[in-house]
Amino acid sequence: MKIFGRCIWFLVLTVVTQVGGIIYLFNIGIHRYVWKPKKSKWLKRQFSFIVMYVSICLMVVPPVARLNDRQPLPWFKVTTLQPQNWFTIVCNRHYVHTALYPLITQVADDFNATSEYNEASLTINYLDANFPFIDGFPLIPHLSHNDGKKLDLAFRYQSISTPLAVNQTKSLLGYGVYVEPASGELNQTTACKKNRWQYDITKYIGFPINDGLIYDEDQTKRLMTLLVAANTEKIFIEPHLKTRMGIQSDKVRFHGCHAVRHDDHIHIQVQ
Ligand SMILES: [Zn+2]
Repeated sequence: MKIFGRCIWFLVLTVVTQVGGIIYLFNIGIHRYVWKPKKSKWLKRQFSFIVMYVSICLMVVPPVARLNDRQPLPWFKVTTLQPQNWFTIVCNRHYVHTALYPLITQVADDFNATSEYNEASLTINYLDANFPFIDGFPLIPHLSHNDGKKLDLAFRYQSISTPLAVNQTKSLLGYGVYVEPASGELNQTTACKKNRWQYDITKYIGFPINDGLIYDEDQTKRLMTLLVAANTEKIFIEPHLKTRMGIQSDKVRFHGCHAVRHDDHIHIQVQ
C-alpha cells in the first residue's frame, strides 16, 4: 500500500511539474541516511521535499534546461511580461525555447511602448508554456506544448467603470472564460462539439474572477498585430474572433476540433 501510494505521488508530481517526481524519489532515498528511520517522521519528510524541490527548481533546473535550448520566462522582476498565475512558475510550466524567448519579450516591450496609456505600464500575461526538459514530453492538458516552442497568452481586458486597459484577467488560471460568438458569427464550438465532447472542457477550470472587467478587443487586436508581425509560425484563436478583429494573416488559423476552444486565450508557436 505504501509503495502504491508513492507510485501515485511520483506520477502526479511528474505529470504536473516534470521534475517533481524524481525529486520526490530522491528525497525518500536520501532521507534514510540523513535521519535514522525511527526519527523519520512524515512532516519532516515533507519539509525536506519542499526545501529540496524549491532549491533544485531555482538553482539547478534553469542552467540545465539551457543545455536543452530552453529558458524560463521572466517571473520575479517587474517586466512587461509576467505570469498570469504563480502555479505556472511553481510547476515549471514557464520554459520556452531560446528562439521564442527574445520574440515574446520583444513583443511585450513593444506592446507596452506603443501603449496610449502612458501613465500605466501594460504587461502581457502568459499562461502555460512548456516544461524545461525532453522534447515530446507533453505539458498536460496541452499535448502540443512539448518542445519549448509553444506559448499561451491571456486576452486583454478593461475596466467596465473607467474604461481603461488593465493587466488583470477574468479567470484565475487564464483559461475557461470565453468571448462567445455573437449571433451571425461562426460558432466553431457548436460545430466541434458534435464529434468532440472535450472541445470546451476548459470551462471547468474557468474559476472566474474580476467581475468588473470586460474583454478589450482593441488591446487584444493590438497584441495580435504585434504577434503577427513577429517571427511567429502559427497563432491560434477562434475563427469568429479573427473575423471580428479583421485579421487577414494566414498565420492566424483554426487549431482543429481535436484541441480545445481558443476564445479564452491566444496560442503562439515558432518554428
Ligand atoms: Zn497553447
